[in-house]
Amino acid sequence: MKSLNTLLSNTGTTIFTVMSALAAEHGSINLGQGFPDTDGPADVLQAAADALFDGRNQYPPMAGVPELRQAVAHANKRFYGLDIDPNSEVVVTSGATEAITACLMALINPGDEVVLLEPLYDTYLPVVRLLGATPKLVRLEPPHWELPRAELAAAFGPKTKAILLNTPMNPASKVFTHNELAFIAGLLQKHDAYAVCDEVYEHLVFEGAKHIPLMTLPGMRERCLRIGSAGKTFSATGWKIGYISAPKALAAVAIKAHQNLTFTTPPNLQRAAAIGLMKDDTYFAGLASDLQAKRDLLGAGLARIGFDVMPAQGTYFITTDFRPLGFNGTDAEFCRYITEHAKVTAIPVTAFYEGEAPTHFARFAFCKREPILTEALTRLEQLFGTRR
Ligand code: PMP
Ligand code: GLN
Repeated sequence: MKSLNTLLSNTGTTIFTVMSALAAEHGSINLGQGFPDTDGPADVLQAAADALFDGRNQYPPMAGVPELRQAVAHANKRFYGLDIDPNSEVVVTSGATEAITACLMALINPGDEVVLLEPLYDTYLPVVRLLGATPKLVRLEPPHWELPRAELAAAFGPKTKAILLNTPMNPASKVFTHNELAFIAGLLQKHDAYAVCDEVYEHLVFEGAKHIPLMTLPGMRERCLRIGSAGKTFSATGWKIGYISAPKALAAVAIKAHQNLTFTTPPNLQRAAAIGLMKDDTYFAGLASDLQAKRDLLGAGLARIGFDVMPAQGTYFITTDFRPLGFNGTDAEFCRYITEHAKVTAIPVTAFYEGEAPTHFARFAFCKREPILTEALTRLEQLFGTRR
């Protein structure tokens, strides 16, 4: 029989699924795939449940239910001072994952180039390639993951259509500074390019860092497609409610991608996300401070055991260098080893790179209840002993 799509045939199963399956097989504490182990706010859950019973279970409007589009516009104004028209500049999608694909589809013609920063989330490259674009990868180096400005500038050229920017960044847990964003903005203007801004962790940012959407910088309002995720913002990663905020001209094409990908997104979850986005500031502050405490607990514990722990300014994740523990294998071997022997699972960071990559980093998710994090640390401590 004729061969199937070459790119997809050669794409492996995502590392998150692989490691979650391994964790289940070994009954281990899963600090791999990033999902909280407690549900989001009760009023948001209740709103989703109620919305199932009020007779609105048929196709909602393609761009999203009006309540959610208004709530997204309102949140843009409230958090960032951005004026977004709910009727023409918001597209609700089935998760940020769909939003990323829809935005790239809206921008790319075969032969275009897309600039991406490594380490990078695992859906980016396959989608860029499926659309016939050429990825231009620029690597950030630990522990501070600073933007390599000269390399970034060199990655841009006449064929550059867009940059795909993830801030706060998974797995580096870096939050881009105003200065770095201004540099990127300069390149986008110079090369007449767009930005797909994956900002799913916009509300998961810790003391000392501030999330700044690239879209708020001068000249960027017309060039950015900004993506949020209710899954992350309301601790319900299974919900898959994403939202794109973009200038009218870009939203008008992104919605055509959505029309052909999923067409619409479950209305009850959309209405619940709208309730969530209208919650008061204490909710958003509490979400971040709660996670920060978990980061501190896990980070300090891993450092005590002997890991070299990278700073984490945002997201659900801590990246660690495990070489000080005396483990000489690769990150994949390390993550398997701790799953089997400590019954704690992490993600090998090579999964976020293409080709040659550092092989001594493991990513741990800290979005878990504190007793679970403490138990994970106890298990790792038993395996490795305490060094510091
Ligand atoms: N982007 C990044 C950087 C992520 O870590 C994730 C993880 N969920 C997503 C996008 C996808 O978000 P969603 O679940 O809303 O599709
Ligand atoms: N974003 C999550 C992570 O980085 C995983 C999402 C997924 O499993 N696709 O862990």
